[in-house]
Amino acid sequence: MTEAAHKQNLLDLDREGLERFFADTLGEKRYRAHQVMKWIHHRHVTAFDDMTDLGKALRAKLEAHAEVRVPTVQFDKPSEDGTHKWLLGMDGRNAIETVYIPDKGRGTLCVSSQVGCALNCTFCSTATQGFNRNLSTAEIVGQVWTAARHLGNVPHKQRKLTNVVMMGMGEPLANFDNVVRAMSVMRDDLGYGLANKRVTLSTAGMVPMIDRLAQESDVSLAVSLHAPNDALRDQLVPLNRKYPIAELMDACVRYALRKKGESVTFEYTLMKDVNDQPAHARELVRLLRAFDRAVQMKDAAKINLIPFNPFPGTRYERPDDAAIRAFQKLLNEAGMIAPVRRTRGDDIDAACGQLKGQVVDRTRRQAEFQKTLATRGVRAAGEDDTGAAHAA
Ligand code: SAH
Repeated sequence: MTEAAHKQNLLDLDREGLERFFADTLGEKRYRAHQVMKWIHHRHVTAFDDMTDLGKALRAKLEAHAEVRVPTVQFDKPSEDGTHKWLLGMDGRNAIETVYIPDKGRGTLCVSSQVGCALNCTFCSTATQGFNRNLSTAEIVGQVWTAARHLGNVPHKQRKLTNVVMMGMGEPLANFDNVVRAMSVMRDDLGYGLANKRVTLSTAGMVPMIDRLAQESDVSLAVSLHAPNDALRDQLVPLNRKYPIAELMDACVRYALRKKGESVTFEYTLMKDVNDQPAHARELVRLLRAFDRAVQMKDAAKINLIPFNPFPGTRYERPDDAAIRAFQKLLNEAGMIAPVRRTRGDDIDAACGQLKGQVVDRTRRQAEFQKTLATRGVRAAGEDDTGAAHAA
């Protein structure tokens, strides 16, 4: 028998795609697809021969036409605070990072959507790595698979993995189809069974894609705002020059109206003397109050304050605790919900904005960044190493 030239990686398919593959390619009943999903996502079995409730003939057919290819764990590191980071090999050359963050009563997995990132936000370490490519659906789902297997996650029992945030490396809305398909597996009972609200997509503000997301998926939306006005946001998030704040906020209003009663989270990374002044807080309150009014819902806007996490070569600094508290107090006094995200996993460089992976850069940005470091006399961690060594 000749082997099929291309084997379908089943991790690339959501329930609908897998049903179609079973019906059209294998000539099998759809419910067989459901059995296979449970084997893969609930029991973490990848060898068809171990899927014992499938007949021998079907197992042979699957062997010939399909595979379950999961990412290779290149490095696996627990942090002192219970955070856990994986460096996952994607294609022999590139690697990305996935981080698990346990907290009272919940466990959040921070998932990457691209190898590197093309957006070039000035305060994010992923940006310094340049960009290589989008991750496939299989590579995104594979991150959840890897963590769930490690955690022994069993849907509907005492689960350790309760939330997924698309806040790892990359801009998820720039890889729309693969991310939406992967999030559908995360929310499927035959997949990871997460509630819609517990899957969050975070974007730097790709306005047209926010509208598409509103139509095609039911997940929570987080927006990386970081500045209350265009002059400042243009500097921090260059994408703002294409989609300025007014357009971004309008898209968020449309999203919230469509998902009646859902709030939108605005992430605000606090950087010393850059965006942490009382005037910024007051401007932020005005902006988000206007959002609440447009959505006609109290607390429609939630703020997540993230103290800046430093990385080698960055020009930004984290504000001191008093400044962070003062900023938060101004928001609270205006009646806004604004928790400060606790820094987790920074001892293993797993905190927000510290993910680097191993990116074969196709933008030459990495070279530019190394040059700036050299002129400043800073040696980047892992400069002559791989990301694996960096994570070690
Ligand atoms: N591209 C998407 C997904 C990445 S999310 C987005 O921009 O939303 C990563 C989150 O961590 C974003 O809110 C980002 O702004 C924040 N972040 C990036 N670098 C950081 C740093 N050095 N310290 C703290 N937070 C950072």
